[in-house]
Amino acid sequence: MTDVPRPSWKLVIHGGSGVILRESLTAGQEREMRAGLEAALAAGAEILAAGGDALDAVEASARVLEDDPNFNAGRGSVFTYQGTNEMDAAVMDGRDRNAGAVTGATATKNPVSLARAIMRNSPHVFLSREGADQFSREEGLEQAGPEWFATAERRRQLELMKADEDHYFDEELKYGTVGAVAVDVRGHVAAATSTGGLTGKRWGRIGDSPLIGAGTYADDRAAAVSATGAGEYFIRAAVAHEICARIRLRGESAKAAADAVIADVGDLGGTGGVIVVTPGGEAAWAFNSPGMYRGVAGPDGTKVAIYGDE
Ligand code: ASP
Repeated sequence: MTDVPRPSWKLVIHGGSGVILRESLTAGQEREMRAGLEAALAAGAEILAAGGDALDAVEASARVLEDDPNFNAGRGSVFTYQGTNEMDAAVMDGRDRNAGAVTGATATKNPVSLARAIMRNSPHVFLSREGADQFSREEGLEQAGPEWFATAERRRQLELMKADEDHYFDEELKYGTVGAVAVDVRGHVAAATSTGGLTGKRWGRIGDSPLIGAGTYADDRAAAVSATGAGEYFIRAAVAHEICARIRLRGESAKAAADAVIADVGDLGGTGGVIVVTPGGEAAWAFNSPGMYRGVAGPDGTKVAIYGDE
């Protein structure tokens, strides 16, 4: 009897992209961000190494980043123009392209788990605002008050943005959205993305993160993708689905597809990045911003990085 090689697992995460330069972070901030990324990788890697599902792993990693106030998701989400926190999240399962998404959630401690509950327990894919909050309560998900999500640093960023009347919102996106993509030992992929959106967002603005095909996509025939960046451009380029389409229909590598689609976003005038894994275990990231909080884990070890030259 010949040994069937055990397929490998892989996990890639991001914690947002933007103008992240060595001079923009203190040594203490940098340590905290790296520790947050390590913790998120550890949570997902534990599940994958034990033979667990990619979907469970990406949810677990995203929850760790949501709970970390340094990242713009869950606790530490950026403020809307009105000074509230309205959170967006999505999950997608590459096995059957089942998906769940939420926009404008205000009271679920972990919005990524609300997205998953929408996928699993509602007949719908995408819920919004009061209805999503109500569904979350009916599902018995852990609730949190505004004081859980709000932080002094995000308040300061909102005041700064409001002082500059030419700006609708902070396009530098220095502190971003979180996301995770994984392939498990059975070769199934999954993606999760969670965000507070953009500082100072108004009028119920929705970014790319919870839009299936824009900021989040997973398909076992291609890849799992999670994006971060100036959402308006990522929506227009249908980034996550476009990467999967290039892989599936043109046979491109994950890296080539990610590079091409981020270049396209750049041509439109947008900045940001993506993380990608394929069912075959290829992991890639691409970004056209100076930095992106990111990390990768597999049976061979773990790596986290922040700056463009790492
Ligand atoms: N893509 C997110 C949005 O537009 C923001 C981010 O990635 O930081 O809502």
